[in-house]
Amino acid sequence: MLTLLSLVLVLALGLLQPTPVCALTGQQIAFALQAELSSGSEVVLTSNTSAYPAKNFTPRYNIATPPTYTVAVKPALAVDVQKVVQYALHNNASFLATGSGHGYSTSLDRLQAGIDLDLGFFNSIEIDTVAKTMTIGGSVSSNDLASALQAAGMEATLGQCGCIGYPGASLGGGIGPYSGLYGPMSDSLLSAEIITGRGQLLNVSSTQHPDLFYGLKGAGFNFGVATSLTYRIYPATNGGNAMLAQMIFPGALNQSVWQIVSNFTASNQPKELAIGLDARYVAAMGGMVVMANFIYIGPQSAGMKVIQPFLDLKPANLNISTVAWADIPFKAFYGGIAEGGCTAGAYYVPHSLNLYQIDVPNLVEVFNYMNKTLATNEVLQGVAIAMQQYAQYGFQLQDAKTSAWPYRDVVSFVQIDGVATNPSQLPAVGKYGRKIRDRLHHGSGRKDLQTYVHFANGNESPAALYSAAKLPGLRALKREYDPARLFSWYNPI
Ligand SMILES: Cc1cc2nc3c(=O)[nH]c(=O)nc-3n(C[C@H](O)[C@H](O)[C@H](O)COP(=O)(O)OP(=O)(O)OC[C@H]3O[C@@H](n4cnc5c(N)ncnc54)[C@H](O)[C@@H]3O)c2cc1C
Repeated sequence: MLTLLSLVLVLALGLLQPTPVCALTGQQIAFALQAELSSGSEVVLTSNTSAYPAKNFTPRYNIATPPTYTVAVKPALAVDVQKVVQYALHNNASFLATGSGHGYSTSLDRLQAGIDLDLGFFNSIEIDTVAKTMTIGGSVSSNDLASALQAAGMEATLGQCGCIGYPGASLGGGIGPYSGLYGPMSDSLLSAEIITGRGQLLNVSSTQHPDLFYGLKGAGFNFGVATSLTYRIYPATNGGNAMLAQMIFPGALNQSVWQIVSNFTASNQPKELAIGLDARYVAAMGGMVVMANFIYIGPQSAGMKVIQPFLDLKPANLNISTVAWADIPFKAFYGGIAEGGCTAGAYYVPHSLNLYQIDVPNLVEVFNYMNKTLATNEVLQGVAIAMQQYAQYGFQLQDAKTSAWPYRDVVSFVQIDGVATNPSQLPAVGKYGRKIRDRLHHGSGRKDLQTYVHFANGNESPAALYSAAKLPGLRALKREYDPARLFSWYNPI
């Protein structure tokens, strides 16, 4: 229970989340929005199950802790988005913008009976190979973008999963195999059209509202809805092809794998190399294994030389090929990310942390603990550790002061994936995932938990997600651009 003092402090710091106190019924909201929005927009009651989400609306990837809605709106134009935001502001209604629906933080279920502001009509892609820029709508998927860029002979940082919304990902940073070259997606953002929590439609860049531009690059979903975004893009490296090497190490080799991985940290990792590791229990292989996925942005022969120490361990299921850059999300981890990450309706409990070192003894200890505890518990075998290690080069290209993105010195972005097959398993999967995260934290190299915002559970402190150093500035921005805290349902600051 809050004491009076803590209540005063909480109010003073602006930490209270808005609660949906809208007194209007779904019908009233739908009626009002239908009257206001342009004819190309769609407004439906979510109780109409033949229209929602089936017809044209974006389903949610993770349904373990989803937000719920009474009304769904699909605006056709930026001014329609503006009208929805202004309507919410003046009528004390709650809404959440939906890009590609892949946000999975447990914080999302604090929004109940709100308005789903589906950005599905904002799906345009314009590529200018001369200016080396692309301008995209607020919900463009990473896959659609990758095909368009590949066809144009260009590239950019993309995530591992092709079904995520590119704008949604980049508003929180956005990391992937090409981050070693270009940093997080947010570093390539040049400008955005955004409707803020005050209901203003602003064009934001390093010269227009530079304070908000800083906030958009790493904490963007806290301030408004981005309807159009322009990014820098890059000529395709190696003719648009990369080496993809996939392999599986039996559990007995885990220590050797961590040891080699530890040699690649900091400046030792070539900027062309992305290391993906997945430690999981595979009953058919007799226990815990480490699946490894290496992407080398260059010729296969050069990539193989770089990963030779791993090949020397003689892994099983070795599969090395040259793939088109845009196909990486479909093929990485034996196609598992595309299959699991693009099917909406998952029961998923996320946990995550950043590692600032590879602590070999701690990783071995956690691996052995999982091997022992999972052997007798089939339900928990859906919990796995996924580690993404990108070269520091790309993250160091821009000064930390240029954006809200706080994690330029992370060695490995770790997710403890918790996949359940039905809702009754969620509490056990969540408890075990948290235990693994806490054990990994002992070897993270930082006393306080630090977590990449898009991989977060939602139970972390804002300082863990946005960094203690950047949080006060972001809260000041929040007061300026979203004083009513309309944008506070997803890992809020
Ligand atoms: C299977 C899977 C794999 C993933 N892999 C990666 C990865 O490799 N790298 C990585 O960085 N991340 C990854 N993510 C995380 C991903 O970046 C986030 O989930 C991101 O929020 C997805 O954006 P979305 O539009 O799909 O999600 P949504 O659920 O639609 O949106 C998430 C949040 O962003 C807001 N938002 C979305 N679009 C806009 C917009 N245009 N303007 C304002 N706010 C917006 C929403 O309101 C919501 O608060 C992965 C997620 C999944 C489920």
